[in-house]
Amino acid sequence: MTSTAKYIFVTGGVTSSLGKGIIAASLAKLLQAQGYRVTIQKLDPYINVDPGTLNPYEHGECYVTEDGAETDLDLGHYERFLNVPTSQANNVTTGRIYQSVIQKERRGEFLGKTVQVVPHITDEIKERIQILGKSGDYDIIITEIGGTVGDIESLPYVEAVRQLRWDLGENNGIVIHLTLIPYLAAAGELKTKPTQHSVKTLMESGVQADILVCRTEHDLPNDIRRKLALFCNVREEAVIQSIDASTIYDVPNLMLEQGLDKVVLKKLALESSTPDITRWNQFLTRHKNPKTEITIGLIGKYVELQDSYKSILEAFIHAGAENEVKVNVESIHSEYINKDNVKLKLGHLDGVLVAPGFGERGIEGKIDAVQFVRENNIPYFGICLGMQMAVIEFARNVLGLSDADSTEMTPETTNPVIDLMEDQKDVTDKGGTMRLGAWACDLKIGSAVRDIYKAETITERHRHRYEFNGKYKEAMEAAGMIATGLNPDTGLVEIVEVPAHPFFVGVQYHPEYKSTVANPHPLFVAFVKAALSYKIKNAGVKIAQN
Ligand code: GLN
Repeated sequence: MTSTAKYIFVTGGVTSSLGKGIIAASLAKLLQAQGYRVTIQKLDPYINVDPGTLNPYEHGECYVTEDGAETDLDLGHYERFLNVPTSQANNVTTGRIYQSVIQKERRGEFLGKTVQVVPHITDEIKERIQILGKSGDYDIIITEIGGTVGDIESLPYVEAVRQLRWDLGENNGIVIHLTLIPYLAAAGELKTKPTQHSVKTLMESGVQADILVCRTEHDLPNDIRRKLALFCNVREEAVIQSIDASTIYDVPNLMLEQGLDKVVLKKLALESSTPDITRWNQFLTRHKNPKTEITIGLIGKYVELQDSYKSILEAFIHAGAENEVKVNVESIHSEYINKDNVKLKLGHLDGVLVAPGFGERGIEGKIDAVQFVRENNIPYFGICLGMQMAVIEFARNVLGLSDADSTEMTPETTNPVIDLMEDQKDVTDKGGTMRLGAWACDLKIGSAVRDIYKAETITERHRHRYEFNGKYKEAMEAAGMIATGLNPDTGLVEIVEVPAHPFFVGVQYHPEYKSTVANPHPLFVAFVKAALSYKIKNAGVKIAQN
């Protein structure tokens, strides 16, 4: 085999939502902290070519990489834990695999052969798994297989893993199987049977798990570990307990205590040492010992689901730790905000963030929210749609353009302050056609953002079709909303600020994607700081609630 990198495959059994992504990211962290160059890849067994067209209700947030891939939210965890960017190659779906195989078939690359799941689909999967390994950039690739072993959709992936382990040879590819050990309260017992069955299901496909990571609510006693080892054909030291943690950021330490990194390195015939996670633990200490707390309102339309704004919530955790503040995020559904209740809904908050989003639902509530916080000097942070709403609000209520709108919501408006970008006008396909990935942005001298970033030019990741309409720039600036971040090549407005306000920043890009434990995002750090100042200043003089 040409690849010199080592491979770790992570499969899941018994149930979904066991946290394969967090286990993969935690293991990667421990290996990285021993000097290995590690990356993580997620294989998703659904037919969508990428998650970009999936509703956040179904699949949580769509995470965007530097190179513009719309990916699974687990990639966000990988970046937040490792502080290393991911790319197109780190997330592959069944749709992408089939698309590629079918394109090859159309080009005649299979020379008249019948194209089949084995070997053509499995070959394509194997190739995709090895792209990162062959790049020479990594010593270890962790490949997380989405779904649960036994699912019809997962079969080609498990088969590809079986073949690849064989191709790679001894000590070059191992399988970690993540399972659940349920606790039956009535019997007062932890149960191993579901794990035995899922290991057996994996074996029916010819794959023997090397390591079991067992999700559990209670400590696994030695007799349970022995039983699991015996029935599941693994060494006792390879039965790793993954007990429920109060924060995902505890998991690397929990895995370290269990010796997951040591067992993995031994099986891969690599040297192990004591991982240096000092920086990580400094973050944890600050995160767990806040000096005070603030409450931020997160205004959006997917607020019922934690996963829909995952990166924003995590960025608040990083920024909170940096400021030694606990950030309570109160999710507020924009559809239920109106001029009459806005004070009641937002008056107690120390800061407001209007979230990214698409379509018209809940828009007017967002605009009312922006007006309220702007007029009451409450720190405001608008991301993507949240920036666009701030522009519309300002145009309507300060410039007096009462029908100012985005052509996304009201195509016939006479004041399209937010308009479709020129190069989007002929786009008809929905998937993968937005303005995506990292773009440069020049920061205006004297602006708040230039001070916050401590840089002249930044790059940030985008995912949108609409943009500030440059025709209104002069009038908006004259009225007090300044374009403080511009794309150096196109002049597109990427940031707006209201300097007369203590903190009012709207960004067309998604800073949340770049916030990591090692590098909390400066804008989130500054926003949390502003919210804290607001809280201190307004202690006891909260806006009257009616
Ligand atoms: N719907 C808006 C656009 O396409 C904003 C997108 C977003 O918030 N990610 O421009």
